[in-house]
Amino acid sequence: MAKKNEKINWEYAPAPESTGHINLKEQYNLFIDGKWVKPNSGKYFDSINPANKEKLASVAHANEKDVDKAVKAARKAYDTVWSKMAPSERAKYIYRIARLMQERAREFAVIESLDAGKVIRESRDVDVPLACNHFFYYAGWADKLEYAFPNRKVSSLGVAGQIIPWNFPLLMAAWKIAPALATGNTVVLKPAETTSLTALKLAEIIEESGLPAGVVNIVTGFGDTGAAIVNHNDVDKIAFTGSTAVGKIIQKAIAGTHKKATLELGGKSANIILDDAPLDQAVEGIVNGIFFNQGHVCCAGSRLFVQESVADQVIEKLKHRMNSLIVGDPMDKNTDVGAINSKEQLDVINSYLKIGQAEGATMYQADCSLPKSGYYCRPTLFTDVAQSSRIVQEEIFGPVLTIQTFRTVDEVIQKANNTPYGLAAGVWTDKGSRIFNLTTKLRAGVVWANTYNKFDPTSPFGGYKESGFGREGGLHGLEAYVKLN
Ligand code: NAP
Ligand code: MG
Repeated sequence: MAKKNEKINWEYAPAPESTGHINLKEQYNLFIDGKWVKPNSGKYFDSINPANKEKLASVAHANEKDVDKAVKAARKAYDTVWSKMAPSERAKYIYRIARLMQERAREFAVIESLDAGKVIRESRDVDVPLACNHFFYYAGWADKLEYAFPNRKVSSLGVAGQIIPWNFPLLMAAWKIAPALATGNTVVLKPAETTSLTALKLAEIIEESGLPAGVVNIVTGFGDTGAAIVNHNDVDKIAFTGSTAVGKIIQKAIAGTHKKATLELGGKSANIILDDAPLDQAVEGIVNGIFFNQGHVCCAGSRLFVQESVADQVIEKLKHRMNSLIVGDPMDKNTDVGAINSKEQLDVINSYLKIGQAEGATMYQADCSLPKSGYYCRPTLFTDVAQSSRIVQEEIFGPVLTIQTFRTVDEVIQKANNTPYGLAAGVWTDKGSRIFNLTTKLRAGVVWANTYNKFDPTSPFGGYKESGFGREGGLHGLEAYVKLN
């Protein structure tokens, strides 16, 4: 066992994933009505690799006219083909998309890591398999909707406008598209501007699957492209995942319209270690909860609460573990923490590191070297924080953990719930009764016990308070795309 906080020099030989098998075009157009069309404005923007700032491809910037074309295509496909098709036939297409994605899993994983900066181990073992599983899972529901909603008449909504963020680009696309198709809706989807490439690869698979033209349309662009979808009169439902700030703009924009909405927004989730928890496992779970995907996880366990009697021990173990994390090339299979998604996000994280120090908190960073080029941040923890500190209250969306201590369970419930958000929480204890007590009192959409960041297509996901409303995943995820009579 290494001594307290001693740097561990694990020597791993480089193990980079190869990129020889991927097929990326230099330029991507919009996928509308089953065809690849040039953007009305003629404008394209660059998608870069945040690990080295190199350009990967240029991507079309869709404006209102392009969005209008996409919505018209989706409406026509809804009216003439998709809403009329037997549900069992719809299911076959969704299964086909799942299988094609599975066949090309390696290509998807590599492109996701290149474009988003996330480590290849995660895109390979988490993002892509889960995205496939969402299509498989919802394909299964397509012809069983009357069993999902017994004694109700189930009908589709029409055209779904879907807007997704950059932290799980392919997975978020799957979360949105699969249940929409299974319930008989057609789709216009906009990926985030920094991570469009896997959604465009998904469009290629959709084309290959023979899905009727216009059922899924992918329009790339910036916030203005998203706003054009939100404000289009002929969209029946908005499914948005992203920041609370943009969620509020969307909610205002659709107030008083016929549009149904689900908003999956930000988070500031609490991870709670009680004194009887298996501490080594808990520390591993905390590390996974905040440093997984560079902390670019809406439900990241970014606030750690430790019971006072074990706090010193936990903090020491945590620092020790942080020092063994490998931060660097996302394409290397040994890397634990990859690149921050964009310069803008790195600037946000760095500004919070300054805010934390200015607020009087004590900052500790993993003692590791960072690659020379690209956007990286050392795993960071803050102690000596107050409940009112901005770094405790505001979402940082990076590998930054705050630590607070508590004496009683009631105190930690009160502190954990004292935030505008309510997306997720984690509880670490040996005792079942303590788990039941905490999980029923924590105001969070998901509460994990003795684990963290576990996802499954059968399980609903969504928030309380400013983390949004509506549920995605599982049977609940179907409800967001149907009318029930
Ligand atoms: P964001 O800035 O809100 O962007 C999300 C999406 O909305 C992007 O595609 C963005 O386009 C688009 N957009 C921006 N302005 C818009 C507008 N006025 N109208 C319509 N669309 C607009 O969020 P982000 O920075 O990409 O993602 C990080 C946030 O997502 C975090 O707060 C995180 O917690 C949250 N998130 C939540 C969940 C969940 O399930 N609750 C899951 C993942 C992430 P551009 O990218 O081109 O700006
Ligand atoms: Mg990129």
